[in-house]
Amino acid sequence: MDFLPVFLNLKGRSCLVVGGGEVAARKVGLLREAGAEATVVAPRLCPVLQAMAERGELAHRQGGFEAGDLGGRAAVIAATDDGAVNERVSALARERGIPVNVVDNPRLCTFIVPSIIDRSPVQIAVSTGGASPVLARLLRSRLETLIPSRYGDVGALLEEYRGRAKQVFADVDARRRFWESVLQGPILEMVLSGQDAAARETLEKAFAQAQAGGAEHGVGEVYLVGGGPGDPDLLTFRALRLLQQADVVVHDRLVSKEVLAMMRRDAERVYVGKERDNHALPQEDINQLLVRLAKEGKRVCRLKGGDPFIFGRGGEEIDTLAEEGIPFQVVPAITAASGVAAYAGIPLTHRDYAHSVVFTTGHLKDGTMDLNWSVLVQPKQTVVFYMGLHGVDIICKELIAHGMLTTMPAALVQQGTTPNQRVFTATLDTLPGVVHSAAIKPPTLIIVGEVVKLHDKLKWFDPQHEEQEIFGGG
Ligand code: SAH
Repeated sequence: MDFLPVFLNLKGRSCLVVGGGEVAARKVGLLREAGAEATVVAPRLCPVLQAMAERGELAHRQGGFEAGDLGGRAAVIAATDDGAVNERVSALARERGIPVNVVDNPRLCTFIVPSIIDRSPVQIAVSTGGASPVLARLLRSRLETLIPSRYGDVGALLEEYRGRAKQVFADVDARRRFWESVLQGPILEMVLSGQDAAARETLEKAFAQAQAGGAEHGVGEVYLVGGGPGDPDLLTFRALRLLQQADVVVHDRLVSKEVLAMMRRDAERVYVGKERDNHALPQEDINQLLVRLAKEGKRVCRLKGGDPFIFGRGGEEIDTLAEEGIPFQVVPAITAASGVAAYAGIPLTHRDYAHSVVFTTGHLKDGTMDLNWSVLVQPKQTVVFYMGLHGVDIICKELIAHGMLTTMPAALVQQGTTPNQRVFTATLDTLPGVVHSAAIKPPTLIIVGEVVKLHDKLKWFDPQHEEQEIFGGG
């Protein structure tokens, strides 16, 4: 170990930055974030530093570095492009026992500045000992994606309740077990998803229960998670994290196998179907299943294709949870329309062609489709039909009957964002024929509007793989 990682308390302490350029400005910013008072010594200040000086955010001593500048400093950073000056700052600071950092020169440093993941009060510092700042930055960005941004709120809440926990649990082991259960249960998720009041309320209850000598009884929680249109890379950070922590994943047919593969290996998996007109499990039973699993104390991930609140019946599922008082959260996702349109090179809106976009369902009920057609045939509008494959004839016929041109461009996209993606472009009067003459694999999305013309020019995603099983459920 070349350096011992420590965290310096610089609150209200005076620190010196030598140099007036942009690198110096970044260091001043960092010192200020740590609550330090920065003095900059330099003949000239760059515009950023100049503005900071005008706002009173730093003290400026104009001129070259002198030994006297070091008096009373808690730390010194040299950020000039003059090697001799940097050497001198380093030598004089070391003589006086002042911690010194010389930017990009580990040899002259008694401390180095790491890459920082700031979730105050939680701080994670990454360092390569000066070997490669680029590597440190890459590592940092990987950690940023792993550690939810609200981790700081978690730290702050625990800090706030620390004294209380000491009172309630005299025994160190009992205290540790209590915090472990808090950090592995619904309270953590409440904080991370921004449900602050609920987190406090639940924490209070847990304390009261522990004080009354009750065993921690665990009701679980439900995450209603959107799995996106198929490509696992399109999952949100939060969806991925919850998938990897859930004890059981309840999913249906629209979730791609690759997205499912992201779940914890040892977690239970329940398939609840929903093939067209062949519901493996009626909606009411799904709602009850979620309640029962949560009441068993499980962390349940209800994983749905696309976004849970767009043609996903997500509202009904959490309605039952809310009635039963089960903690839940909803994780939005890229809906089929945005994912598919992007991967097909069809912008849903466009200055010249479409100023609005409508998402609607083309689902057939008893062989008919009850839609407000006159709203759908408005000029400069893109219309996206979910669940429209079996009703494609009716969709095209009705749009034409309500005044849309027979030459209006229309596309049907199969299994968008996956290696099986295929885009069929046509016009309103030719689309049904094109669709009927091809062997099409659901799910599919129909896009109607002038923007479809842009596909030929803007297409970029063009998988050449063999057809494979991507959606399929159980
Ligand atoms: N909640 C989902 C939609 C559920 S309705 C979402 O937000 O995307 C199911 C319909 O979504 C399918 O019939 C199909 O029209 C569409 N769909 C979902 N994934 C798709 C994909 N990868 N490619 C094309 N259409 C898709």
